Amino acid sequence: MGDMVVVRKEGLYCVPGDFYIDPWRPVDRAVITHAHGDHARWGHSHYLASSKSVNILKSRLGADINIEGLDYGKRVVHNGVTISLHPAGHVLGSSQIRMEHEGEIWVASGDYKVEPDATCEPFEPVRCHSFITESTFGLPIYRWDARRTSMTTSTAGGARMRKRAAPASCTPMPSARPSGCCPAWIRRSARSSATARSSRSTASTATAASTCRRPSWSARPTRPT
Ligand SMILES: [Zn+2]
Repeated sequence: MGDMVVVRKEGLYCVPGDFYIDPWRPVDRAVITHAHGDHARWGHSHYLASSKSVNILKSRLGADINIEGLDYGKRVVHNGVTISLHPAGHVLGSSQIRMEHEGEIWVASGDYKVEPDATCEPFEPVRCHSFITESTFGLPIYRWDARRTSMTTSTAGGARMRKRAAPASCTPMPSARPSGCCPAWIRRSARSSATARSSRSTASTATAASTCRRPSWSARPTRPT
C-alpha cells in the first residue's frame, strides 16, 4: 500500500479518501484542523471540522459555507476511510485528523501543543502507524520558554520576549527535515513519535474500513468502540 496521505499543490491529500487536509487552494472536500487563517481557507465545496470549530469557521469564512461538524472521537466513513477528530490542544476546536483505511492508521496533527490550556481540550495522544506533524517551529534550533514564563515575560515587555525567543546562537540541523515533505509538515514513523507511547487501546479499537462511497461526510457515522 502506498502512502495514505501525499502532498499535492492544493495541500495534503488523502488518496483513498479523496479529500484534503487544510488545503491552501480550493478543493471539493476539505478536513480542517482548526480555524486559524493558515489552515482554514475560503472556497472549498465541503468542509469537515470539529463541532467546536464550526461557528468560528463560519464567522471567518462566511455563514453560508457548506460545513459539517464532528464531535471529538466520533467517526465518519468517507470513500472507505474512517475519519475521526481528536483534540490537538492548540486553540478551541483544534483537531488532529485520524484516518484509517484497510487497517492502516495515519494521523495529521495540524498545530498542537501538549501544555495545558484553559481555552481548549488537552492534546490527546492517538496511536497510529504514521504521524504527520506540523513543525513550523519544531526544529531543534528553537528553544521556547514554558508557556507560563512566556506569558509573564510578555506582559512585562513584548520586545524582551521576542529577543529571548530568537535562536540566533543556534545552528540548524539539516537532517531534521526529511526530503520530499512540505516544509511545514514532517511525517514520522509512529514508533519514534510521542504517539507511539500512547495507549495501545486506541489502536486496538480500530476496525476495518467500510467501502462506503456515498458523497456526504456523514455517509456512515459510527460510534467509537
Ligand atoms: Zn494555529
